Amino acid sequence: MDIAEKLAILAPAAHFEACDTHAVAGRRYTRTKSHWSEHALSAESDANGVRRPVMRLLLSAECVYNCPYCPLRAGNDVPRATLTPEEAAAAVAPQLQRHDAGLLLSTAVVGSADESGTAVVESAQILRKRYAYRGYLHLKLPPGVSHAVVEAAARVADRMSLNIEVPSAARQAVLDPSRDWRRDVVLRLRWMRDLHHAGHIKSGIATQFVVGVGGESDQELIAATAWLRNELAVGRVYYGAFKALAGTPMAHMLSTPLVRTQRLLQADWLLRHYGFAAEELAFDGHANLSLAHDPKLAWALQHPELFPVEINRAPADQLLRIPGLGPLGVKRILRLRMLGTLREPAHIAVLGTTTQRVADFVTFDGRFFGTGRTAQIALRNARKPIVDQLTLF
Ligand code: SF4
Repeated sequence: MDIAEKLAILAPAAHFEACDTHAVAGRRYTRTKSHWSEHALSAESDANGVRRPVMRLLLSAECVYNCPYCPLRAGNDVPRATLTPEEAAAAVAPQLQRHDAGLLLSTAVVGSADESGTAVVESAQILRKRYAYRGYLHLKLPPGVSHAVVEAAARVADRMSLNIEVPSAARQAVLDPSRDWRRDVVLRLRWMRDLHHAGHIKSGIATQFVVGVGGESDQELIAATAWLRNELAVGRVYYGAFKALAGTPMAHMLSTPLVRTQRLLQADWLLRHYGFAAEELAFDGHANLSLAHDPKLAWALQHPELFPVEINRAPADQLLRIPGLGPLGVKRILRLRMLGTLREPAHIAVLGTTTQRVADFVTFDGRFFGTGRTAQIALRNARKPIVDQLTLF
């Protein structure tokens, strides 16, 4: 098999190991539309928070493991290929130059975790040395990889990741007992954290859950996310929706709706940027977030005793909790307050379309102009069935 034939298998397969939504210019790409040479691009932030295109490549689609949800599992009948580190670097270097792009390198487990991890590291080293590549490198290592490989990767990578998949050892034991969650995953993330704290891996550490694969609740996922961030210094947690794929033992199960991963992302955003604690979020009787509306609105609707707040006096952290207001909106209101008393919704018209939503949760100099429409719409949405986008895989 020549390199072009291998790439034709490996570039689309990298989507299963994706660490971000695969999109170019806002468009989602399906497997049939994806080509290594044109569209194997997504966007990630580098150490400075600048979003830039990132090509992704799987070094090997041959795997000795049988994770029950994965299309690349050993027992599944799919095309297989493996690139040597020399082949990978030679193929990818001109592409990176042409697109001025970064690279996400990942691999299935061919042979052992260490053999596969070493191939990832060697590919990166060749790119850095032989091809003088100085751009962004994200190396995703397989669970169970040794400390020596993690350390070698940290010397060439800007970002490193290892997929956690499920939020606890107990969930892992039910899903796939051949993997030891604490040893093969968490301990390796701990090593990455220590290397990050020692000044390596300047763009930080990432990991990914496969949402819905282990029957876990959103509350478990959010608690695990907070722990990953606080204890293991994981900077970026991704939520990939579980897909019931033909040929896997989980083909008969229901795929996770994409909207669930969006809600988790929004909840995580509240923890990171809005001062919410994980235990404050509004979960339903099954410990899940509402699919019908965003977690901030769900929290506000669950706390009518906290609203309305007086827009002229509320401190910034209280304003930030008002549905419809983000950090930018809060800044604008604080600036407007310096110019005079806000007496009616027209005085915050600068907020644009969210003005009415905000008005449902505030008073203007003691007067309430809300219509209750936000709550009505939320109630109506909660009664609607969730219509999800269909994808090919
Ligand atoms: S180790 Fe990775 S590539 Fe292999 S079956 Fe499991 S999830 Fe798939």
